[in-house]
Parts: sequence; structure tokens; C-alpha cells
Amino acid sequence: MSLEKVLNFSHTLIKSCTKEGDIVIDATIGNGNDILFLSQIVKDKGKVFGFDIQDDAINNTKDLLKKYNCTNVTLFKQGHENLLSIIPKEYQGNISCGIFNLGYLPKGNKNITTKKDTTIKALESLLSILKINGIVVLVIYSGHMEGKIEKDGLLEYVKSLNQKDYQVLLYQFINQINDAPFLIAIEKMR
Ligand code: SAM
Repeated sequence: MSLEKVLNFSHTLIKSCTKEGDIVIDATIGNGNDILFLSQIVKDKGKVFGFDIQDDAINNTKDLLKKYNCTNVTLFKQGHENLLSIIPKEYQGNISCGIFNLGYLPKGNKNITTKKDTTIKALESLLSILKINGIVVLVIYSGHMEGKIEKDGLLEYVKSLNQKDYQVLLYQFINQINDAPFLIAIEKMR
């Protein structure tokens, strides 16, 4: 056994809380790797909702999903901070898993990045519609200026969550150089 890399561990966690037929959310679709993974777990009976603000992300992801014949995904070119007004009411309270892979689009414009205030608003919204024992996973990159601000804000926010309501896990290799990505996972307890 070896310790999993952060991105692999995010998928291990997703697998542990998601099954066929579930309703799940990718809050930052980027190039579509996470959403493809989610789509393949929940299969045709399930539903995946994805958010991104960039045309490149939406188009790259559409192409990827087409290649794999994924028909259970709905993509929104919308900020995740608006998710409460977008996710259909019938699914709110029944979301089993959500993922945020923060930062900028790999190989894309590094000036377009997730930001502290909108990320926290989206996280708060997603937690409010998560089902009991559902999990939100965040992969955090703090190697750029906006990422550092986002990291500090997020850590402060998640530490303030009531432990009776949420369990919060930090998964981080603490001897790596260059601000290696780390992971926060939040399980809703009641
Ligand atoms: N999960 C992706 C994958 O598997 O390829 C990688 C995501 S990438 C690191 C971060 C994405 O967040 C970028 O595509 C960026 O456009 C998007 N983003 C930035 N601000 C956003 C917002 N307010 N709402 C939704 N997406 C946002």
C-alpha cells in the first residue's frame, strides 16, 4: 500500500460516496476529467451537473463526454456561486457528491481562476443541498496569488463548520515543496 496522490485520492473519495443512479455536481469542470469520472459512476440512471465560466472548458468537456457517449451530464456556463438557483429543486437535498478542482484551466488563461468569495459561496450552497453522508471534495492549488487568498479563506471557513453538522478532512503532503495541491473533504453528518 502507498499513500495516494491528491488527485487520485479525490477520486477514491468520490467513489466511496457515489453509486449508480446518484445525483452529483462538478463545480469546476475544466477539461472534463472529473465529470467524466462522475458520469461513469452514476451511469444512465444518475445525473451529473457541471459548472464552468469559460467557453473553452465547456467545449473541451462536451467533446470528451461525446467521445465516451455520456448522456447523463448537463453543463452550465455559469459561475458555481449561482448553483442554488440552477440545480432543479427536485434534486436539492439529494446530492451525494460534489467536487471542486480549484485554480485555473490547465493550459488555459491563468488569469481566469476560481476566487475565494465565489468559491466559499458555492461551497456553502452545495453543502446546503447535499444529502446526509454526502461528501464535497475540494482540491486546492495555492501556488498562485489568487490561490493563496482562496486557500486561507477556505481553511478559515471549513474550520468554522460545526463538527456535529460536518466532518472535515485535510489530506496534505506537508513536506512537499512549491505549494503542492492538497485536499479538503467535507461529509455532511445531519
Ligand atoms: N476539474 C477539471 C478537470 O478535471 O479538468 C479542472 C478544473 S480547473 C483546475 C478550474 C476551472 O474552474 C477552470 O476551468 C475555471 O474556468 C473554472 N472556474 C473559475 N471560476 C469559476 C466559477 N466561478 N464557477 C465555475 N467554474 C469556475
